[in-house]
Amino acid sequence: MTDEKKPCDPSDRDRIRVEYDRDWRRELRRSMTPKDRIRIPRQPMPQRDAFTRGRDFAEVNLGLSPEAARSEARRCLDCAAPGCISGCPVAIDIPTFIKQIERGEFAAAGRTLKTTNSLPAVCGRVCPQETQCESVCNLKRAAGVPVAIGHLERFAADFERSAASAPCCRPDPGAVKVAVVGSGPAGLTAAGELARKGYAVTVFEALHEAGGVLAYGIPEFRLPKEVLRAEVECLRGLGVEMRLNFIVGRTATLDQLRDEGFRAFFIGTGAGLPNFMKIPGENLVGVYSANEYLTRVNLMRARDFPAVDTPVPRARRAAVIGGGNVALDSVRTARRLGAEPAMIIYRRSRQEMPARIEEIKHAEEEGVEILLLTAPVCYKGDEKGRLRSMVCLRMELGAPDSSGRRRPVPIPGSEFEIEIDLAVVAVGQSPNPLLFECQPELRRGRWGTIEVEENTLAASAPGVFAGGDIVRGGATVILAMGDARRAAAGIEAYLREEHDS
Ligand SMILES: Cc1cc2nc3c(=O)[nH]c(=O)nc-3n(C[C@H](O)[C@H](O)[C@H](O)COP(=O)(O)OP(=O)(O)OC[C@H]3O[C@@H](n4cnc5c(N)ncnc54)[C@H](O)[C@@H]3O)c2cc1C
Ligand code: SF4
Repeated sequence: MTDEKKPCDPSDRDRIRVEYDRDWRRELRRSMTPKDRIRIPRQPMPQRDAFTRGRDFAEVNLGLSPEAARSEARRCLDCAAPGCISGCPVAIDIPTFIKQIERGEFAAAGRTLKTTNSLPAVCGRVCPQETQCESVCNLKRAAGVPVAIGHLERFAADFERSAASAPCCRPDPGAVKVAVVGSGPAGLTAAGELARKGYAVTVFEALHEAGGVLAYGIPEFRLPKEVLRAEVECLRGLGVEMRLNFIVGRTATLDQLRDEGFRAFFIGTGAGLPNFMKIPGENLVGVYSANEYLTRVNLMRARDFPAVDTPVPRARRAAVIGGGNVALDSVRTARRLGAEPAMIIYRRSRQEMPARIEEIKHAEEEGVEILLLTAPVCYKGDEKGRLRSMVCLRMELGAPDSSGRRRPVPIPGSEFEIEIDLAVVAVGQSPNPLLFECQPELRRGRWGTIEVEENTLAASAPGVFAGGDIVRGGATVILAMGDARRAAAGIEAYLREEHDS
């Protein structure tokens, strides 16, 4: 729906310009020639060794040391026309926070991030920087290797989290009430933006923990829960109320919330409904959707079963169908729970895999096998209905399809069978239809998404705005957050207009 590389809005541009012209920035630019900066090598991200980490759920990446972060920050050219900002959907003032790191002002760098990003420690860990800010970093053009913006973002956000106490403020007793439905990155960002503007914000979340996919989908070895919880606490410190175990559409409808005094709504309910391939055998015991598998392990902590109530299969041989982040998270989880082999089954070639490059690399280091140009045709079970094997077909690439990627074409007669006792299907998610059932006035898009007006993200019901996966289908954390920032501006304009009329 919306362009990924949207230019900053005028207020962002002015703020960034003011920072660029500050005396300390001029001095820092003069302190070293661009040539010397370009010569500094990119600092690698320290990580735990593959053998140890492949057996537990502790975080893989360890984060840059202060010395390494300052050295990396020196590589940044502090460009007059920084490409990096145009590649960031929430328009972080990237050069300012990097130059603050160069000066050793780590907490200030963290605060700069928070000006436009409510979840910097999350984004520093899971954003696909290689296709966003880093892909348009001017240093990439000049020297081939961009500044490690994501690693620096994580460093500054972690420093700020460990050093600072969250700002505490409460909305005025008479503040206008705004409801946010869903506590994923879109909902949390909208809540933060609106709370900072002085609205009384309540987030309604269906699950017992806030965070959306960040809480139930992305495993702890990529995003520790304590990092997410600290970001959520910051929002509580801003006066945001979290009402958990509250399903809008069941516990209460939007209209009932309107009657409770909520004057505007942001819908960020994501795309949590798993897609299946509709092939024979998908109902066998041992075939899971990635959504269920990851929710069991991450949110319900099934990896600690029987100490917790929720079980998860400890597979001997696992296959995960798909090539995106969801598939990679699932297969790395299965590997950690003891599966050998733990395989990715992907119908295109490596080049087309949508997962982050880092995740593919980490998975292979941990022993994950990737079967490319392969697609399942059916699952076979034993007499008790338990999964026993999967029949696959080899594929070759034909002409590009509507996504621009070359279409996989089956090679006749190439069937082969793989013995497995766990299959995890990670071939995409769709929006849950629940909200449409109780709010039929919401216009529905072709893929079950909510249709919104492009600039303000206003939906077809008065005072209702939407963003993130519920509007885009499955996308990314930062795109969901970018939508939420724009929708928050739309909500503010709507409420002002309502007040003035
Ligand atoms: C396993 C996995 C790994 C991923 N890895 C990455 C990655 O590395 N990098 C990246 O950028 N993106 C990644 N993504 C995609 C990214 O997480 C999503 O694009 C993003 O979370 C979308 O945010 P959202 O706020 O729109 O929705 P979600 O994160 O899905 O949050 C929606 C929330 O709304 C709640 N909700 C739904 N209906 C209701 C209701 N009726 N009432 C109340 N609450 C409701 C849900 O319980 C959920 O908590 C990954 C996705 C998955 C599943
Ligand atoms: S484009 Fe790259 S080098 Fe230029 S300011 Fe941004 S991060 Fe620094």
